[in-house]
Amino acid sequence: NEKILEVNTLRKYFDMGKGTKLQAVNDVTFHINKGETFGLVGESGCGKSTIGRTIMGLYDKTSGNVLYDGNDVHAMSEKERFGFYRNMQMVFQDPYASLNPRSTVREVIGEPMEVHGMFKNKREQMDRIYMLLEEVGMNRDHANRYPHEFSGGQRQRIGIARALALDPDFIIADEPISALDVSVQAQVVNLLKELQEDKGLTFLFIAHDLSMVKQISDRIGVMYLGNMVELTKSEALYNNPLHPYTQALLSAIPIPDPDMEDSRERIILHGELPSPINPPSGCVFRTRCPMAMDICSVQKPEWQEIEQDHYVACHLYNKEAPERESVLTKQQ
Ligand code: SF4
Ligand code: MG
Repeated sequence: NEKILEVNTLRKYFDMGKGTKLQAVNDVTFHINKGETFGLVGESGCGKSTIGRTIMGLYDKTSGNVLYDGNDVHAMSEKERFGFYRNMQMVFQDPYASLNPRSTVREVIGEPMEVHGMFKNKREQMDRIYMLLEEVGMNRDHANRYPHEFSGGQRQRIGIARALALDPDFIIADEPISALDVSVQAQVVNLLKELQEDKGLTFLFIAHDLSMVKQISDRIGVMYLGNMVELTKSEALYNNPLHPYTQALLSAIPIPDPDMEDSRERIILHGELPSPINPPSGCVFRTRCPMAMDICSVQKPEWQEIEQDHYVACHLYNKEAPERESVLTKQQ
């Protein structure tokens, strides 16, 4: 497995003035292999989009680093960055908001090509626009129409065609299906999978809904309040979730097979999501964790590899935590 992206103890705090800081992303570490889909999940406000935008260089970092193909994305000059970001593109949640309503579909898809001077001649550019429209399941007759003339699913296809315009290797899809009807969601996910196979694309797929992420992702990272709490392969996360937050998220997904008895216990999380301006001491999840112990309020759990390729930050897996045995026994 060849790594294409490395995110190393990345921290992004926003200065809110008067000495307060919003801790959007707190020392998050993960990598993405070439050609895989990495899913990033968690409730809104957990820092997933901030990670995406920091990788894209749209935000500066507070500390840590982001390496793409070994290059530190925040250490580049403006000019280097401009050329470099042809490789990385973004697909957004609301395709309508991200597409200029006064531009035709042709202009929307052609714009990045023009900005980067991809073609000397208009004819070649037009041919590429037609080809991209076909690749995303639209057709050339759509080129002179306006985004608002299309359905949400079609607009997302146009957004995807625009993201593909510069022939990138890596795509950050930030909640690309959250605004779509359930029936359309599956179509867009299938399109992304097809494009990935055809073009060898790598995806960072950001979502709050674990059921969709599971279908498309090879590995998944779960975020809570700016921290990554668990990371592993998709099946392992689903079959053997270790972190109490992941367990709660999964217990809320209905079992798809109606003949199968759903014997899992629903885990209801109590309490409010704390503010990232003033997060809890120790483990950020402790105010809502059904398993919280004394140590959880004083010591931040370490990010540890518990099984091969299975990382978790939780004192239940820390053999030195004194109350661990009694909490685990009580749960059985
Ligand atoms: Fe719960 Fe403690 Fe584990 Fe945090 S460290 S998830 S509070 S048991
Ligand atoms: Mg978001």
